[in-house]
Amino acid sequence: MIVITKSNITEERIQELVQIIEKSGVQAHVSRGTDRTVIGIIGKAEPTLGEHLRQLKDVDNVVKISKSYKLASREFHPEDTVIDIKGVKIGGDNLVIMGGPCAVESPEQIDEIARLVKNAGGQVLRGGAFKPRTGPYSFQGVGVEGLIMMAEAGKKHGLLTITEVMTPEYVDVCAEYADILQVGTRNMQNFDLLRKLGTINKPVLLKRGFSATYDEFLNAAEYILAGGNPNVMLCERGIRTFETYTRNTLDLSAIPVLQSLSHLPVISDPSHGTGRRELVEPMSKASVAAGANGLIIEMHTDPDNSMTGDGVQSLFPDQFANLLKDLEKLAPIVGKRFDTTKEPAEAFATWTK
Ligand code: PEP
Ligand code: MN
Repeated sequence: MIVITKSNITEERIQELVQIIEKSGVQAHVSRGTDRTVIGIIGKAEPTLGEHLRQLKDVDNVVKISKSYKLASREFHPEDTVIDIKGVKIGGDNLVIMGGPCAVESPEQIDEIARLVKNAGGQVLRGGAFKPRTGPYSFQGVGVEGLIMMAEAGKKHGLLTITEVMTPEYVDVCAEYADILQVGTRNMQNFDLLRKLGTINKPVLLKRGFSATYDEFLNAAEYILAGGNPNVMLCERGIRTFETYTRNTLDLSAIPVLQSLSHLPVISDPSHGTGRRELVEPMSKASVAAGANGLIIEMHTDPDNSMTGDGVQSLFPDQFANLLKDLEKLAPIVGKRFDTTKEPAEAFATWTK
């Protein structure tokens, strides 16, 4: 259920309404829009609560949300969520590019790739320090050392950083070093992990499970939102279909569908979505044309010798740079702003760790 307030409501009155709602044993989540404020009610409410709230001063309407997810829905938050991280805006009309290797391998590797991502006009450095590998004998990532290498490279080159976290125990250390925490496809329904991510304020990029429906995906996001962390972005990274030519089938429809069902930013991952280097460029452009708020792309200076098998889907640095040049032209045509500022922002210079 959501309570839609009148447009001129004061902050004091919003807090009074929150108190009235919470007194009845349910949780209230406030979403402030430019025009109106919406209070989402989470929990099992008394059947009479809706009618009671409807009568109150400054309440315009009370509406039942029929979907199983509430805080992730457009009804709760009609405007696009824009997440501001050190001045980089993710969501709304902004296009953000995240680039980097599948895995952090060494300080030199991540430093050089960070330089190339920045020079090409990217805003976020990606790299896994903890890798969710299908087989237990495969390279599992360099761990906490990798977080430090990445944080240093991000700071030096003026890039935000994103890295995958696989278990609740590692959330705090990953949050200490990275700007965005990634939940991988295999962990989309790791509910303990999602609950833990709800207790922090760090932005989370939640990847779609490779066989998850939109409803399951949005319910996974709901776990994080319901825990109190509003900074969630959704990532379409391909689903498993009968087709074997590509590693996964990148579901382009997911982009406009998720944006219609939800206010959360939608990022596309054409690297894991296709598993083939030659498809990353066209599917990146298709994703942006379909309305994606950003892309997360694997790029490596020596993909043939990358420590995970994902070299085959990693772009070479020049391909990455050329793609971003094309995206600069494409973005305004599809109503997106693509800020390729090459100067490190103030916020990065003051980062310590
Ligand atoms: C990755 O981003 O390197 C990764 C493992 O992604 P996914 O969870 O989508 O497979
Ligand atoms: Mn990968």
